[in-house]
Amino acid sequence: MIKCEKCGVKITKKNFVNHKHKEYVFVDNEKKKVCSICEKEYTGYGNNANPMTKGRCCDSCNEFFVIPARQTEILRRIKQNEKKIRKFN
Ligand SMILES: [Zn+2]
Ligand SMILES: [Zn+2]
Repeated sequence: MIKCEKCGVKITKKNFVNHKHKEYVFVDNEKKKVCSICEKEYTGYGNNANPMTKGRCCDSCNEFFVIPARQTEILRRIKQNEKKIRKFN
């Protein structure tokens, strides 16, 4: 698919000649990306799914799983550190 980065319009042979921003036209041959959590296709950059999985995930999985998982991970680390500190005392 050929697209204009500026306005997001699909470029065809018909509309290319009259398109205002030819310098923004590019071939969008990106491979489909699949979320490593829900296995649905997503668009855009995706998110780092760590610590849920090693791959990347879609925005909704990031919001519902990855961010809370990270928060629990942080809490777990804090608790581990507290235990270590107690040992020293
Ligand atoms: Zn355009
Ligand atoms: Zn997902």
